[in-house]
Amino acid sequence: MQPVNLGGVIISNASLHNFDEINKKNINVLDLVEIERAGDVIPYVTRLVKKNSKLNTKIKPPRICPICKSNVLKEKDEAILRCSNTHGCSSQKIGRIIHFVSKKSLNIDGFGEKQVKQLFNLKYINKVEDIFNLEKFRSEIVELDGWGELSFSNLINSINNSKKISFDKFIYSLGIRFIGEVNAEILANEFKDLDVLISSSSNLSVLENIDGLGPKAISSIIDFFSKEINKETIKNLKNYLTIIFIENERIDNFFSNKHLVFTGTLSELSRDEAKYLAKTKGAKILSSVSKKTDFLIAGEKAGSKIDKATQLGVKILNEKEFLKKINL
Ligand SMILES: [Zn+2]
Repeated sequence: MQPVNLGGVIISNASLHNFDEINKKNINVLDLVEIERAGDVIPYVTRLVKKNSKLNTKIKPPRICPICKSNVLKEKDEAILRCSNTHGCSSQKIGRIIHFVSKKSLNIDGFGEKQVKQLFNLKYINKVEDIFNLEKFRSEIVELDGWGELSFSNLINSINNSKKISFDKFIYSLGIRFIGEVNAEILANEFKDLDVLISSSSNLSVLENIDGLGPKAISSIIDFFSKEINKETIKNLKNYLTIIFIENERIDNFFSNKHLVFTGTLSELSRDEAKYLAKTKGAKILSSVSKKTDFLIAGEKAGSKIDKATQLGVKILNEKEFLKKINL
């Protein structure tokens, strides 16, 4: 944009979000627009004020990635454009490393976007696992702008401290699309172990049975773990990381390894809370009553599942009985 003074700050860039948004706002090259700035948020274009009458040049979406020149993809139901070169595009490689060292992943102090880009451009790192081999380049890195013996040693310490990582954070750090913190935790709780996760990741029916995992996340998991390059990354990471799996402190609970079905309204806790509690004690939650069901937990206003359970001779527990036994 032509620079403009907005509340004492000169603004020459404002966000238009994506091309759907540009089309919706009907903005072309050289039009006059209104922008808004609030706090530290990047200023954004709120609306078109006046069309440029002489010029009517549309803002065209790029057909190729500006970094690696690969084709651009736009997926159905998605507004944003993506570079199709997932594993070859340097910008995507950098993005993966930034995600890997970020706060919610390995949380490596002193390793931000700037450092990642610098070390990547100097070819000291190329893949996420390369951060564990930076010691090799000590003499070169300490001489770099913004570095020194102390800051390099601090970085190595932070990297070493990050090597113990909980399973859910490990899953999150892989940067699987649609697997944010919540889904990473769901997967960690469900599979408890990395090998189980990997071997189950191609099993659609297993994934579909996991509470809380949506179809986009499921197809993304299948896609991610089917790629040789990702398996290789995980294999390499296992050499550096100690992954802390959720302990099986539950074996001795009444409901351990029992199949439960919930029905009706519970009063002490929500149904999701009850399911979660049962899962942490090692129970398997099913959605419908069958011969496999060990217990039907029935709250108020339970419906047809009670009849089905009675028919099949499945034991029925009310909420009080359930809570008593689960807290044993
Ligand atoms: Zn690219």
